Amino acid sequence: MKWDALVIGAGPAGSVTARELARRGRRVLLVDKATFPRAKVCGCCLNGAAIETLERLGLGGVLAGGVPLDRVTIAAGSRSVDVRLKRGVAISRAIFDMRLIDAAVREGVEFRPGIMNSSMSRETKQSEIEANVVIVASGLTGGDATPKVGSRIGGGVVLAAKDSPTFYSPGSIYMATGRSGYVGLVRVEDERLDIAAAFDPAFVKSSGGLGLAAESILRAVGWPVPLALSGAPWKGTPALTRRSTTLAGHRSFVVGDAAGYVEPFTGEGMAWALMSAEALAPLAAQDWHPGLIRKWESTHRRVIGKRQRVCRVVSQVLRSPMLTSLAVRALGVMPQLANPVVAAINRPSPLPNVVPT
Ligand SMILES: Cc1cc2nc3c(=O)[nH]c(=O)nc-3n(C[C@H](O)[C@H](O)[C@H](O)COP(=O)(O)OP(=O)(O)OC[C@H]3O[C@@H](n4cnc5c(N)ncnc54)[C@H](O)[C@@H]3O)c2cc1C
Repeated sequence: MKWDALVIGAGPAGSVTARELARRGRRVLLVDKATFPRAKVCGCCLNGAAIETLERLGLGGVLAGGVPLDRVTIAAGSRSVDVRLKRGVAISRAIFDMRLIDAAVREGVEFRPGIMNSSMSRETKQSEIEANVVIVASGLTGGDATPKVGSRIGGGVVLAAKDSPTFYSPGSIYMATGRSGYVGLVRVEDERLDIAAAFDPAFVKSSGGLGLAAESILRAVGWPVPLALSGAPWKGTPALTRRSTTLAGHRSFVVGDAAGYVEPFTGEGMAWALMSAEALAPLAAQDWHPGLIRKWESTHRRVIGKRQRVCRVVSQVLRSPMLTSLAVRALGVMPQLANPVVAAINRPSPLPNVVPT
């Protein structure tokens, strides 16, 4: 059978692109190397823009049971500050990603887990799978994005509620920052504590592992360290900061993290993935013509480019303990200074593409 589209990777970018293509009458095969539900290194926080995109696509229900968020507490040295959030939800990636796949399948997408595809191959004939177009949505390791020199790496784990200090209360994101990285903690459904971090690779090595690196950053800001933290089954990521030079090629498109990523501090990766999936679908649903390459490149720049610039600036500030501490102090005196950044992060997509449900 020849598919209209083969989508490689069933994270938010892949599942939503697949579903949107199916809703436009396309025959879509979605594959992932993993079997689901699966955990993924992620802070698990969806911001206002992500929630709005899901709602617009008729997917608001996938957030059922998630924990509403109204605040982020940022600590640097001995100081901390609370920044108000207009909207946010914390939900584990095991549940969230599985629900997005189920929603795609309900629209007619065929999902095959446990299939490793050479995501770098831009051929439309991949092993036995034939498709008119290929969507590469395989995350940080997909596409041709090369890591930036000096990039941080990610690490994460989810702890049982009984192993998590009550200090970390539901509804708030806790961000502990240090010279060599930062650690985010948030309660997801069932009160489990999701922990996700970005570190300089050398710091992880000198600390003796991801768990010990996280422990050291939490201790430095005076926050409680979960007893099970360093012995927990931490998972790591490859280098985080990367930019793809090719966003589309002959009969292929790259979307989500595979198209480039910055850093997780602003908690926007899923919003970028969802908004770019929404923007890609109307293009990938068209009969193939080479003009689509340029069209996707300019659309991607418009939808994601500016947002990633904001995240780049925030990530640069975090590299300097002096600037971070100054920012935390300033926010303590004038919390409204955070408003423009929070607004930029949460502003809606410039290209809503609604297919009637
Ligand atoms: C430490 C950390 C914290 C973060 N915190 C947040 C946060 O709080 N909020 C937020 O919005 N974002 C956060 N992010 C970013 C977010 O996780 C990503 O931006 C988002 O998951 C991107 O979605 P995606 O669909 O592009 O890729 P992914 O979610 O990575 O999905 C890619 C899928 O492709 C599959 N795959 C990979 N290679 C292949 C292959 N060869 N063949 C088949 N399948 C393959 C993988 O198994 C995976 O399921 C964080 C990231 C990190 C590292």
